Amino acid sequence: MTDMGMCACPGCEHQVSNDQAIVSEGLAFCCTPCATGHSEGSECIHAGCPCTELNGPAEDEESAGDEIMEKFSNAQF
Ligand SMILES: [Zn+2]
Ligand SMILES: [Zn+2]
Ligand SMILES: [Zn+2]
Repeated sequence: MTDMGMCACPGCEHQVSNDQAIVSEGLAFCCTPCATGHSEGSECIHAGCPCTELNGPAEDEESAGDEIMEKFSNAQF
């Protein structure tokens, strides 16, 4: 067995299997979404892998804004 090592996608901690290895610029990724940096919000082949959220389109700013708004409205009343 040849070990390709960990997926090079930031946040992805899955071993790259020979079957599904995507090699891009000398780095081995576990799946196509990882190799493309999840640029289209595509999910890691490993369901629930944190790398999808880490590298996908950021929605954190919106939710953080909602929290701040809630605090403000609470303070007013
Ligand atoms: Zn992953
Ligand atoms: Zn990966
Ligand atoms: Zn990934």
